[in-house]
Amino acid sequence: MIHPSTELKTINKTIGYGVVAAEFIPEGTIIWTLCDFDRIFTPLELSQLPPHYREIIDKYSYVNSSGETILCWDYGRYMNHSCSANTFTLDEFNYIAIRNIHEGEEITCDYAQLNYSVEELNCSCGQPTCRKIIRNKDVFLYADIWDNAVYKAFANFSHVKQPLLPFVKNKKYLSALQNGVEKIPTTKITYIDRKGLFA
Ligand SMILES: [Zn+2]
Repeated sequence: MIHPSTELKTINKTIGYGVVAAEFIPEGTIIWTLCDFDRIFTPLELSQLPPHYREIIDKYSYVNSSGETILCWDYGRYMNHSCSANTFTLDEFNYIAIRNIHEGEEITCDYAQLNYSVEELNCSCGQPTCRKIIRNKDVFLYADIWDNAVYKAFANFSHVKQPLLPFVKNKKYLSALQNGVEKIPTTKITYIDRKGLFA
């Protein structure tokens, strides 16, 4: 489920739709959480879908580290990639804003965290740090930078409004993170080697 203070907007003709902040969203806010409305497909279920459904799934879903394919039920599925993304995974269930996101600013993630079916995706995000090609294995190259950004953002977690908190499935785990009982996992946890996973 995407943060409620967001809206679906056309970014431009090339990119198409994107998710934009409808008001200021501070660093440390959960931007997306895996909720009960999101659809989860096992590799077997995925393989049994007819081709016209597979096309939709390939475009709008991501694959988690267990090899399940997740299709967001809301317009969270339109979140675009940026090589300077303003959200990253706090854990496998939640994305967190790693900096303040201003009204009208596009909310972005890094597609290297989504385990795409293609080895390489071309990128023209326009950021000075654009990698030009996005690979799933980029998570290993950039994890230190992303992890530090997530650790820093999580320090704000309890000081900012968290409208998605009622929908968070692993609230106890988040409490344990806050209390320091658990450590924030590295952003590398999203990775799965896709070879042999899917028919
Ligand atoms: Zn880029």
